[in-house]
Amino acid sequence: MKAIAVFPETHEVKLIDHEEPEITTPAQVKLRMLEVGVCGTDRKITSFQFGTPPAGSEYLVIGHESLGEVVEVGPEVRDIKPGDLVVTTVRRPCPHEYCRACRTGHQDFCFTGDFTECGIKEAHGFMTEFVVDEERHMNLMPRELRDVGVLTEPLTVAEKAMVQVWQIQQRLPWIDPNTSAQMRGKGLKAMVLGAGPVGQLGTMVLVAAGFETYVYSRSKLPNPKADLVEAIGATYFSEETTPVEQLAEQVGNIDLVFEDWVPTPSSSSLVCLTTKLPSKLIPLS
Ligand SMILES: [Zn+2]
Ligand SMILES: [Zn+2]
Repeated sequence: MKAIAVFPETHEVKLIDHEEPEITTPAQVKLRMLEVGVCGTDRKITSFQFGTPPAGSEYLVIGHESLGEVVEVGPEVRDIKPGDLVVTTVRRPCPHEYCRACRTGHQDFCFTGDFTECGIKEAHGFMTEFVVDEERHMNLMPRELRDVGVLTEPLTVAEKAMVQVWQIQQRLPWIDPNTSAQMRGKGLKAMVLGAGPVGQLGTMVLVAAGFETYVYSRSKLPNPKADLVEAIGATYFSEETTPVEQLAEQVGNIDLVFEDWVPTPSSSSLVCLTTKLPSKLIPLS
């Protein structure tokens, strides 16, 4: 079958013939890939800044943001059936017994760094025709979300950040634990730095949680990213026309800063909580 792969040794990216995977254990699922996203991580991999092939392979099949349709399931697969839509998890646990994060299924917090990531680090990705993987690495996607399902993986950057935000806030008696998810950000202001895809998805999550949300980005108004920000219900400021000092005057106190920041493949986002506290940076995953 066809796949798109990167060859780090020879600095090539090309369409290759890759062996079609088959179900070999009872809990595996075979997917026909419908869509695969391309993001800044792929740009870095295809410019050979990082990206590691699996042991013994000279190439890495890229693609980590995906949507697939189930074509076949093993006899022990419980909740997934042919025809279902599925988004496959990217990061897989490290092998070390002492890594409590990985052993409890929280590999985003792996502290050994020996995790693998499909399409990024030591495991083939999804930019191919068929993928076989264990059922436990697959997330069911409702049919009505078919058109936007491929955005699930990048959306998890913001969703996982918000899980941490609310856990941190619980230490303090500032939020009524009975508050609904749509009301928890009410009365609070959030600032998103950057209006790229992850910034836009973060903006949606923050607006949906009730935050008064602002996006601060480079491009001058008008521009399509700003139009999208406004359509989501947030306010766009351009760094070109509004310097930081002016931004502070116009927005006032900021309770939460969301920044998608990718200095290395293993760190995906950064949340800065400023609610009534000095700025505190919390790296996520
Ligand atoms: Zn990505
Ligand atoms: Zn680990």
